[in-house]
Amino acid sequence: MKIVLASGNRNKYREMKDELAPIGVELLFGGDFDHPQEVEETGDTYEANARLKAEAWAKATGLPAMSDDSGLEVESLNGVPGIHSARIVPGSDADRVTWLLSELKDKENRRARFVSCIVTVFPSGIEPVICERNCPGTIAYSPAGTSGFGYDPVFTPDGYDKTFAELGDAIKRKISHRALALKGIAEMLIHVIQYQTVRTMDNSISGADSVSDRKNK
Ligand code: IMP
Repeated sequence: MKIVLASGNRNKYREMKDELAPIGVELLFGGDFDHPQEVEETGDTYEANARLKAEAWAKATGLPAMSDDSGLEVESLNGVPGIHSARIVPGSDADRVTWLLSELKDKENRRARFVSCIVTVFPSGIEPVICERNCPGTIAYSPAGTSGFGYDPVFTPDGYDKTFAELGDAIKRKISHRALALKGIAEMLIHVIQYQTVRTMDNSISGADSVSDRKNK
């Protein structure tokens, strides 16, 4: 089954594509398609925004579409930046890291968590599959590392003493919010693939019947 990733973020694509191959899903990079320009994220939850993006991309491409909506929730900022993580301040990822560190300048509590909600929608009308997971950790005092994107240089996941940007892709792909949500989605997609295979077989059997029906007439 081919599924288009409803995003032009190549970092997200890199983190996601290999995990789906073992269940027979080929994840296609959204950036390679004619796609909707910026889908307005008007929802007030990760799930609502992931759905908006996946539905828009499925409509534009005619393919099943998978969307990840994610964010960083910082305890002492009451969950901010949350669903606004990508745009909490204008500029680059580095500008947002600088903003975060200055917000936390006088805060002792550095607890935070990344959240990812992945939604897959199907043009055929099968119910969407949805999975949300999080990855707890702490915000470092200064950026470190070059791997990944977004807030990776200042996020240290629980159980480690290095940031995601220092730990690199291999570890992030095992423990991150996105990796965990993707694992849940993969388990659900196995059932969708089985259902579609059975439906295709049913259709071809009834198609064969009608051919033999015609022969008998
Ligand atoms: P989205 O593309 O609207 O889902 O925006 C997600 C934003 O949350 C990103 O632009 C990052 O700022 C932040 N974010 C989400 N996941 C990660 C991650 O794995 N590492 C670093 N930042 C992330």
